Amino acid sequence: MAVVGVLALQGSFNEHIAALRRLGVKGVEIRKPEQLDSVASLIIPGGESTTMAKLAQYHNLFPALREFVTMGKPVWGTCAGLIFLANNATGQKRGGQELIGGLDCTVNRNFFGSQIQSFEAELSVPELASKEGGPETFRGVFIRAPAILEVGPEVQVLAECPVPSNKVLASRSEVEDQEEKLSEKKVIVAVRQGNLLGTAFHPELTADTRWHSYFLRMSSSVAEVASSSIVAVGGE
Ligand code: GLN
Repeated sequence: MAVVGVLALQGSFNEHIAALRRLGVKGVEIRKPEQLDSVASLIIPGGESTTMAKLAQYHNLFPALREFVTMGKPVWGTCAGLIFLANNATGQKRGGQELIGGLDCTVNRNFFGSQIQSFEAELSVPELASKEGGPETFRGVFIRAPAILEVGPEVQVLAECPVPSNKVLASRSEVEDQEEKLSEKKVIVAVRQGNLLGTAFHPELTADTRWHSYFLRMSSSVAEVASSSIVAVGGE
């Protein structure tokens, strides 16, 4: 049975483990750097990214997490986990927090506003449609959610979300130069860059396991590419 690590410092790690269990996959709680050696992929849950960063510093996890990412191992960050994986985060109070980085994007931490402005939205996600013609729509749960304001050339956009019309922008000054995006009233909320997946919403809080299945498929294809390049190097 496949084993997936779930960073278990804070936030919705139990919900991710339960979603994996529904797919017959074991999720292992990760709290110490050496525990990362026993898993081939990692989920970083939603929660509160400043608190998560402080706990990660306390447990000396940042070097091991960065190594995990740079080794090309599959990592999926949901919400606070997405912020953690981003190269840049804006909208942070009191000087910000340490990030793992690796995902070439700029994330605005509380783009959609405060806790009471949390919402659900129907997203169009072509990557989730099944070959049998299953739906490509996914109901995203956004809780004090971030949004992705800029992406680098290697980043594939998987989903965008209409900006709710009643939204009070958390930090309008920071997104003023994003006028084009705002006038379209859509922001990026799911991306993939090679071994890294980021979603601004919480699939683990729904009964729909298609994002978890997507991450598992992505992890096997990343592993296949890695092993074929080892064979290729070994064969030279
Ligand atoms: N915006 C939150 C943060 O900065 C993340 C919210 C979430 O994970 N639901 O940490």
